[in-house]
Amino acid sequence: MEKVRVRFAPSPTGPLHLGGVRTALYDYLFAKNQGGEFVLRIEDTDTARYVEGAEEYIEEALEWCGIIPDESPKKGGKFAPYRQSERRDIYDRYTEQILKTDYAYIAFDTPEELDAVRAEFEAKGDVFSYDNKTRNQLRNSLALSQEEVQKLLDEKTPYVVRFKMPIDRTLNLEDIIRGHSSVNTNTLDDKVLVKNDGMPTYHFANIIDDHEMEISHVIRGEEWLPSLGLHTLLYEAMGWEAPQFAHLSLILKPDVSTLINKDNIDSITKSFTEEFVAKNNEFSFEESAALIKSFFSEVKSPRFKSMLGENEKDNALTASVKQFLKKGLSGKLSKRDGDKFGFPVFPLNFTDPKTGNVSKGYRESGYLPEAFINMVSLLGWSPADDKEVLSLDEMAKEFDLNKVHKAGARFSKEKSEWFNHQYIQLKSDEELLQILKSSDLNLNIEDEKLVKIIGLMKERATFPKDIYENGKFFFEAPASYDEKASKKAWNDETSAVLGEFAENLGTIDYTSETIKQAIHDFAENKGLGMGKVMMPLRLALVGELKGPDVPDIMELIGKEESISRINNAINNFK
Ligand code: GLU
Repeated sequence: MEKVRVRFAPSPTGPLHLGGVRTALYDYLFAKNQGGEFVLRIEDTDTARYVEGAEEYIEEALEWCGIIPDESPKKGGKFAPYRQSERRDIYDRYTEQILKTDYAYIAFDTPEELDAVRAEFEAKGDVFSYDNKTRNQLRNSLALSQEEVQKLLDEKTPYVVRFKMPIDRTLNLEDIIRGHSSVNTNTLDDKVLVKNDGMPTYHFANIIDDHEMEISHVIRGEEWLPSLGLHTLLYEAMGWEAPQFAHLSLILKPDVSTLINKDNIDSITKSFTEEFVAKNNEFSFEESAALIKSFFSEVKSPRFKSMLGENEKDNALTASVKQFLKKGLSGKLSKRDGDKFGFPVFPLNFTDPKTGNVSKGYRESGYLPEAFINMVSLLGWSPADDKEVLSLDEMAKEFDLNKVHKAGARFSKEKSEWFNHQYIQLKSDEELLQILKSSDLNLNIEDEKLVKIIGLMKERATFPKDIYENGKFFFEAPASYDEKASKKAWNDETSAVLGEFAENLGTIDYTSETIKQAIHDFAENKGLGMGKVMMPLRLALVGELKGPDVPDIMELIGKEESISRINNAINNFK
C-alpha cells in the first residue's frame, strides 16, 4: 500500500482562522492515524492577495496548536521547496507538457477585451463564461489559425494557458465524506491554468504539487468542492493518478441567543449598526441602532426567529434590518464574527499590516492550546464513544474520516470556555504557576504562596487569569465591603465578637487546621452558631461572601494580615 501523505496548503492571504485550523488538524490527525506524513505547503502564487506576515503566522499558529508538520518551508523535506513561489521551474515543465495534450490551449484575450465581451453578454441579459460554447469566438489558439497564433507569439503578445473543458462529459466524483456525485462538463468553464506572467494559478500548481509531493489524500474545506471536477480532469490530462478527496463542511455561526446578554448588548448593537449603515447609508445610525437593539433584546425569546420574518407592514428600515440580521446571524462563521460578538476566531492575535487592526487570538485570550484544539477537533467529528476531552495523541488514535459529519458544525463560545475550564483542572498547580508567571499579571507574591492560591482557586477558573481575578483578596486587602453581604453578615454585636476573636488568634500556631479549630472553639464558648463568626470573618477578609474556605484564606494571607483585615472591618462598620 502506498504511504499516506496529507498536506495542508494554505495561501498566505491573512491569519489562519478556525476553519483553517480545523482543516490543518484533520489533515494532521488523519496522517498520524494512518502512520503517514503531514506536509505544510504554502500556496503563494497569487501575489495580489499576499499578506505580509501571514506565512509566519501560519507556522507559529500550527506550532502553538502542536500540529507539527513533518515537512514544511521552515523544516524542508525531500520534496522541497514547499513554497509555491519557489517552484516555478517545476511548473514550467508541466505547462509545456499539458500544452502538448488536447486539454489546454493558449489565449491572447486581454482583460479589456474580456470585459467588453462580458458587457455585451450582460446587455443581452446573459452571463459570459469562457467555455466550450464561447471559446471559438475568442482570441485563442483554438479559434485562430496557426499562422495568426505564431505571429502573436513572435510579437511577444502576452497570453494565458487555459484548460480545454471537454464537451458534454459526465464526471463521476468520489469524496470520502460525501460519497458519490457527478457533474457535467458543460457546466464548467475553461479555467486559466497559467497566468500571463508565467505563474500557474491555484488549480494547476495545486495538482502539480500534490502529484510531485506524492500526496495520497486531499482533505480540505467544502469551498473547494466545486473545483473537484476540474482537478479530476487535470489529473487525467497529465496522466496521473488522482489522490483521494475529502471535503470538510462549514463551521457555522454560534447560536446568537447564547452570545448576547445585558452586558454586551450595546457593544454588539454598535458593531452590527456600523456594518448595517455602511451598507445601507440611506438610514441614520441612531434609528438603525435603536431598531437593532430592540431585536437583540428579544434574542432569548422563542419568538425571535419569527420576529425576523418578512411582514408587509414593515417600513423600509425594518425590512432592511430584518434582512441584514437574518444573514448576519446565520450561516458560515466569518472572520468578522469574532470582533462583532467578542470571541476569538483566530488562534493567535493578528495585526493587519495595512490597517494596524488587531484581531483577537485564542492564545492571547487565555486559552490553553490543548483546550483550543480539542474544541476545534469536535467541530465536525465525533470520536467513537462520544468522548469529549481528548489529547492530540488520543485524537490521532481515534480519528476516522468516516466519522466526519456531512452537515455544518456549529461553533459555540460556551463550549470553548468549557474545554478551557476542563484543561485547567487537568493542569498541575505548578504548571499553572508557570502559565500565570509568564502572563502580564502583576503578581507580587512568592511562588510557594501562589501555588497554594492556585490550588484553592482553579476549580472555579475558566481562564488562568481568573485565578488571580477571582482571588484578588489573596493579594490585597478589600478596599470596600459589598453592601448586600454587609447587611447579611454584620450586626451590632459583630465588631465586639470579631475583636475578641482576633485577640485569641495571637496565641495560636497559624495553620488552616488550627484556625478552623479556633473558630469552632470560640463560637462554642460564646454560644454562637459557626456562621455568626465565619460569615463576618469572610466579609472582613474578602470584602464579599465569596471564596474558598475561610481558614484556608487566613493561613495563606498570614496572621498579621488576617488580624489587620479584621480590624479594618471593625473600623469600617463602627
Ligand atoms: N491554497 C488553497 C487554500 O488556500 C488550498 C486548497 C486545497 O487544499 O486544495 O485554501
